[in-house]
Amino acid sequence: MITGENSSVDKLMEFMYYDLIGLVQTDLQGNIALINPVAVQLLMPLEKKGHLLSNLFATLDQIAPDLQFQAENFTLAAGSIIRNQNLVITSGIRGQTEPVYYALSLVKMGENSLMASIRDVSEVIKRERLLHKQEAWINAALTGVKDFASAALDSDGVVRGWNASVQRLTGHGPEKIIGQPYAVFFAPDAMTADRTTDRLREVDRAGLSFAEGWMQRADGSRFWGHSVITPVEENLTSASYSLIIRDITDTRETMESLLKAATSDQLTGVANRRALYEAAELEFARYARKPRNISLLILDIDHFKKINDTYGHPAGDKVIRNLAMVMLKSVRSIDVVARFGGEEFAVLLPSTDIDMAHVIGERIRRNVEAELINIGEHQLSYRVSVGVAGVELGISGIEAMIEAADDAMYEAKHQGRNRVCVKRPAGDETSQH
Ligand code: GH3
Ligand code: MG
Ligand code: MG
Repeated sequence: MITGENSSVDKLMEFMYYDLIGLVQTDLQGNIALINPVAVQLLMPLEKKGHLLSNLFATLDQIAPDLQFQAENFTLAAGSIIRNQNLVITSGIRGQTEPVYYALSLVKMGENSLMASIRDVSEVIKRERLLHKQEAWINAALTGVKDFASAALDSDGVVRGWNASVQRLTGHGPEKIIGQPYAVFFAPDAMTADRTTDRLREVDRAGLSFAEGWMQRADGSRFWGHSVITPVEENLTSASYSLIIRDITDTRETMESLLKAATSDQLTGVANRRALYEAAELEFARYARKPRNISLLILDIDHFKKINDTYGHPAGDKVIRNLAMVMLKSVRSIDVVARFGGEEFAVLLPSTDIDMAHVIGERIRRNVEAELINIGEHQLSYRVSVGVAGVELGISGIEAMIEAADDAMYEAKHQGRNRVCVKRPAGDETSQH
C-alpha cells in the first residue's frame, strides 16, 4: 500500500519512466511540469521548428484542437477526461510513409494537475485496417466468381476431405487428392513449401489467409484463382483448416487495376491522385471540426513536350522522377506530394496559410531551377510553373481547392512560366511572385 507523499511520488516517477507510454504532467492550462522521454520522442515531431515542448495543448492544437476546452469544462475535482482517443498524426502516403496514430488519455489528477498518456498505436490500427481491407477484397473477388471449391485440411495442411466442387473446379478426384499437401492446387511456380506453412501460421495468428495467383488443375492447365484459408473449430471435425478456392479469371484485370489504383504512382513512388484525395478529405474533415489553414500547390513542368521531343521519352521520365524527388526534399514530411498524371503534381500542405504555401512553392521552383540532370552526354535543366490555393479563398473541399490552384498555375504559364502564382478571391486578379 502506498503511504505518504514520498512513495506516491516514487511510484509516479517509476510510471513516468516506464518506456512504452509517453506521460506528461501539466497544469490545467496545459503547461508542462514533467514529461518522460517517450513523450518527448512522440511530441517533438509535432512541435513547430525552434519551439521547445512547453504547453501540451499548444503542441497538440492542430491534431486535437478541443483538448483545452474539454479540460476546462471538466467539472469533477479529479477523474478521466479523455480515454484512449485516437489522434491522426499523419495520414501517410501509400508506398512511401505509413500513417501515424496516437492514442491519448487525459486524467485530472487534482485541482491544478493533469496527466496525459500518449501511445503510438499506428501498428494496431494498421492491422485493423488490413483486416477490413481483406474483407473488401474478398467481397470484390466474390462478385466475379465463376465457380468455387472447398476442401478440408488437417493441421499440417494435408487435404483430408474431398467433395464434388473440388472435382468440378480442379479436376482432382478423391483418390488423387486426399493425403496430398494443399499446395497441389497451386501452380508450382506460385507456391513454395515455406509459403504453404506461412499461410497456415497466418491463419493461426490472424484468423484468415487469402491470396490471389495462378492455380493449377489436375490436367496441368492454369487458372487465376483466389484462395482463402480459415480455421475450423477443433472437436467438430478432424480437420483444422478449410480452404476455399475460386476461379476469378474473369475479374483478374479488374482486380489488378483496383490494386494499381490503390497504390502509389508507379513512376515516381509518390502518392497518386487517389491517395492525395484521401489525405485531403481527412484534413478537410478536421477543418470542419475546427477551421485551420490548408493549402495546395499544383505544379506543371514547363515546355515538357520539348524535353520529350529533344531527349526522348525515357529522359522525360527521368525529369518527372527528379521533380518528385526535389518536391519531397523541399517540403515537410506531413505534406503530401502526389503525381496527378503526366508531368503534373500537387502538394497538400496541412496547417499552412496561403502566404507560406507561396513561399514553399517558390522554394520548390528555385530548387528545380538548380537541378541538372544527366542524359547521356548532356546536362539538362527544366522549370516548373506553380499555382497556389488555400482555405482563405473560402474553399472547403479538395475539388474546389484543386480547381483554384489549377487556375493560378495556368496564370503562371500565361505570365511566362517558371513562376509561382497565388489564386486570389473572385474579382481580384491572381498575383505573381
Ligand atoms: P507547358 O509549359 O504549357 O506545360 O508545356 P508542355 O509542353 O509541358 O505542355 P503539356 O503540359 O500539355 O505537355 C505534357 C506532355 O507530357 C505531353 C505528353 O507527351 C507528356 N507526358 C505525359 N505523361 C508523360 C510521362 O509519363 N512520361 C513522359 N516522358 N512524358 C509524358
Ligand atoms: Mg501538363
Ligand atoms: Mg507542362
